[in-house]
Amino acid sequence: MSQHHEREHLALVIGAGVAGSEAAYILAQHGIRVIVVDQNALPYGKIEDGLPLWHIGLRDRVEAEIDRKLRHPKIKFLPLFKVGKDMTLPEIMKEYKFDAIILAFGAWKDRPLPVPGIEKFRNKQLIYQNDLLKWYNHKHEPGFQGKRYKIEDGVTVIGGGLASLDVMKIVMMELVGNKLKEKYGLQYDLFTMEKKGLKKILDENGIAFEDLGLKGAALIYRRSAKEMPLKQPASDSPEDKAKAQAVAKKLLENYQQKFLFRFIPNAVPVDFEEKNGKLTALILEKTLSKNGKLIYTGERFRHETPQIISSIGSIPVKLKGIPYEGDAIKTVKGTALVDGYSHLYAVGNAVTGKGNIKMAKEHGRQVTENLINPDKPGQINLHKTLDENYLKETDRRAETIAEQILALPLPTQEEVDHVWELVENRRKQIGYKNYDEWIAKHKPLRLEQILKQNKNLP
Ligand SMILES: Cc1cc2nc3c(=O)[nH]c(=O)nc-3n(C[C@H](O)[C@H](O)[C@H](O)COP(=O)(O)OP(=O)(O)OC[C@H]3O[C@@H](n4cnc5c(N)ncnc54)[C@H](O)[C@@H]3O)c2cc1C
Repeated sequence: MSQHHEREHLALVIGAGVAGSEAAYILAQHGIRVIVVDQNALPYGKIEDGLPLWHIGLRDRVEAEIDRKLRHPKIKFLPLFKVGKDMTLPEIMKEYKFDAIILAFGAWKDRPLPVPGIEKFRNKQLIYQNDLLKWYNHKHEPGFQGKRYKIEDGVTVIGGGLASLDVMKIVMMELVGNKLKEKYGLQYDLFTMEKKGLKKILDENGIAFEDLGLKGAALIYRRSAKEMPLKQPASDSPEDKAKAQAVAKKLLENYQQKFLFRFIPNAVPVDFEEKNGKLTALILEKTLSKNGKLIYTGERFRHETPQIISSIGSIPVKLKGIPYEGDAIKTVKGTALVDGYSHLYAVGNAVTGKGNIKMAKEHGRQVTENLINPDKPGQINLHKTLDENYLKETDRRAETIAEQILALPLPTQEEVDHVWELVENRRKQIGYKNYDEWIAKHKPLRLEQILKQNKNLP
């Protein structure tokens, strides 16, 4: 061990997305040293790989905010460190003394499509949303190494949330954009298509959708349009619920008008057909929903499709050492404390798998603020329950925390130096000098920059 470091409280945050960077920042502001690890070279998580790349303003704003937080002098960012691969959580806990460990690793596993046997088509005729978005967001980058996909005419998207509408936009822009180029020599970049909508572009060129000779794409949802989770009701009152449902229906109609896809409500895929090893059709079962309860009617019909994109939600990856209840990390009821642990917490999408940027950030903040009792520095504020409104606003799952990092005895000099040794050795191995240099080296060339530079579409 070469050098002694300041003895101070230590926390580990796993995942450097919206929630992890917020949690780390709050702790750092309280004078706690925070090591933030991420499996990727870049922090940002879903902002980089999930949020479709046309959200330029939102992406740049949120990434700049994450940068600002991770630059805090008390925070040490350690990229290319995957918990579960480089070290397991039990190994970390055994080897290092952290006053708190915060799981902020998001939800990266697509919920498996519940149709028996359909997995054999994965990455062939079945594409999952997370895989699709990684390709779509990065396919233009020189040196892109990931899996490449081709959207087939007649594709079917299964889902019903906002993300599935983004997926519909992607597939329709791919189909129509390629056709316009191929058949009419018209080139539209995705930013223009997304902003104007496909209907307007076709109208401006005097082309009807039917002229394209495309089958198009269909969105299948298990309930009706108004039941799509596109708008959170302001309250649980029947009036507010009805208002939110009307907004959801209108939102879907607007998307359909602009992006020209078909919508098949009240249908659930239950089986499939194949020919020569290729998927050819889905068997759908009609459903009804009564007072929010989904009823399978037993009536089935065939839906021909050469390709399926499943957009039915993401769930946290299962990591060794963490208890799960179904798909979710098991937390002590009403808190964000992971069940069975005294200093392990979960924040952001890692907890439920759903949520937006605001919710992930707010969750990271609330949970972490409750780790420290600002009124009584040095005292533990155990398992304070979060305010009702916040829970309603966020993911409705009661998450809380309290811990007294600041009241715990400081780790020993040896324990502190041991953690630093890990960070410094790893950084050396990967050639990490400082945050800004690292980010500049790894931030990909943006599509809008490529388009500006050479006017050629990728
Ligand atoms: C298609 C789509 C559209 C969206 N559109 C919007 C929108 O318009 N507005 C909005 O507000 N939100 C939107 N969202 C949601 C938003 O992106 C997320 O809610 C938010 O970014 C989640 O933040 P997080 O920090 O909880 O998780 P993440 O961003 O997933 O961060 C988790 C981090 O943990 C890292 N990690 C994972 N496993 C490990 C491991 N084992 N070891 C180390 N590191 C690990 C990951 O690399 C990642 O960096 C969209 C999402 C999708 C998919």
